[in-house]
Amino acid sequence: MEIENKIWDKNECLSRDELSALQFRRLKDTLSRAGRVPYYREVFQQCGIDPSNINSLSDLKKIPFTNKSDLREHYPLGFLAVDRKDIARVHGSSGTTGKPTFVAYTEADRNLWADLCARFLTAGGLRREHMVQVAFGYGLFTGGFGLHYGIERVGASVVPVSAGNTPRQVMILQDLGADAIICTPSYALQIAEVIEEMKVDINSLNLKFGHFGGEPWTEDMRTRIEQQLNIKAFNNYGLSEIIGPGVSGECICRKGMHIQEDHFIVECIDPATGQEVAPGEYGELVFTSLTKEAMPIIRYRTRDISRIMYDGCECGRTTCRMDRIVGRSDDMLIIRGVNVFPSQIEEAILQVEGVAAHYLIEVDRPHNLDEVTVHVEMQPEFFSDKMSEMQAMRDRLLHEIRVIANISVKINLVAPRSMERSFGKAKRVIDRRVEKGIL
Ligand code: ADP
Ligand code: ZN
Repeated sequence: MEIENKIWDKNECLSRDELSALQFRRLKDTLSRAGRVPYYREVFQQCGIDPSNINSLSDLKKIPFTNKSDLREHYPLGFLAVDRKDIARVHGSSGTTGKPTFVAYTEADRNLWADLCARFLTAGGLRREHMVQVAFGYGLFTGGFGLHYGIERVGASVVPVSAGNTPRQVMILQDLGADAIICTPSYALQIAEVIEEMKVDINSLNLKFGHFGGEPWTEDMRTRIEQQLNIKAFNNYGLSEIIGPGVSGECICRKGMHIQEDHFIVECIDPATGQEVAPGEYGELVFTSLTKEAMPIIRYRTRDISRIMYDGCECGRTTCRMDRIVGRSDDMLIIRGVNVFPSQIEEAILQVEGVAAHYLIEVDRPHNLDEVTVHVEMQPEFFSDKMSEMQAMRDRLLHEIRVIANISVKINLVAPRSMERSFGKAKRVIDRRVEKGIL
C-alpha cells in the first residue's frame, strides 16, 4: 500500500534555531516545575542550578542524570510535581526489570500524550477514515491506553480488543475489517501464525499497516511481519518514565524514528563514562521532558542503546531520528568477555531459512565458563526427521551467530509451535548465572 506523507503539527518541521529557542523556553519551565519535587530541589542545590536563572540549553548538562533507581527509591509517587488532586491518570512500567514504577499524568499531560501519539500515527499512515484494532494490553502498561487516545485524536476508530485470546483477535480482524493493527512485534507474528492455523486467507483481511513497539525487533523481523500479515510495519518507541509511546516514531521513509524534540531533549551517551557520543554513534539514550506537568523528568537514563541521526529526512520533518533500539544495556550479555545483544542473535537466526522468529537464549556457567544455548523454533515445512537436514540447519545457525554476534553457542532446534508465546513483550533471555547468583 502506498502511504502519503502527512504532517500533524508544524512543530515537527521547525528550523534548528527555532527548535532550540522553543526547547530553551520550555526547559526553563520544566526546571522550575521540577523544583517542586524534593529530590530535584536537592539535586539543583547540590549542582548549583537556579532553575529560574539558566542561560542556555547546555546548562542542562550541569544536572546529573536521573536513574531508574532514583525513581524506585521514591516509590510510588515521590517524583510528583503537582498536587495529588491534579493527577488525572496513573500508569506504570510493565516491570520487565522488577517492581513497576508508577508515572502520573495531569489532564494536560494526557492531552499532550494523545497528541504525540497522533503525530507518529499520522506520520505512519493513519487517517480518520481508518479503523484500528489495538492488541496492546490495556492496563498499567502505557501501550494500550496511549495508542487508544492517539487513534481517537486522529479521528480514526478504535477497536480496543487488548492483548491475548488470539483466535478471537483474528475473528475480530475478519469480521470488523480493521485497516491497521497495533501491538508488540512478537505478538504481531503470533497473530500471523494463528491466522495461518485457522486457515484464514490473509488476503481476505482488510489489514494494510501496523504500528509496533514496546520491545526490540530487527529489520528481518519487520520483513517477516510484513510478509506474513501482508502489511506495512512501522516502528514506534516510548517508555513510561518519559510519557509512554509517543516519544518517537517512523515516518513513511522509515529511516529511523523521529524524536518529538519540541517535547523531549535527547542525548546519547557512552553508558560507561556518561559522556555524550558523536552524532551517529551508538550509545544510551537520555531524555529530558520539556512540557510534562505531573512528573517532569530530567536527563533520564533509559538504558536503551541506539544512535541519533541529525541529517534531514525526505518527509520534511526536521526533528532528529533515532535508529531502532539494539537492546537495553541491562539486557546485554557478556559471554566470555564478548558483549552480545539478544537482537544480534535474532538478526543471525533470521538469516536462516526454515527458522521461525521464536527463540530463547539461555546462558549458564557450568564449569567456570559461559555457555550459551540458543533454542530456536523451526517452521513446520522445514521440520524433518532426517538427521542430516537438521544438522545442516544447526550448522548454518552456528555460522550466522558466529559471524554476526561473534560467539560460539549450542543450538537446540525445537518443534514448530512448541515455544511459549507472549501477548506482550517477549522474553528472550534466561540467564542462569543471575539465577545462581554468579553474576
Ligand atoms: P518496562 O521498562 O517495564 O519494559 P515500559 O513499558 O515503559 O517499561 O517499556 C519501555 C521500554 O520498552 C523501553 O525502555 C524500551 O526498552 C522498550 N521499547 C519500547 N519501544 C521500543 C521499540 N520500538 N523498540 C525497542 N524497544 C522498545
Ligand atoms: Zn521523516
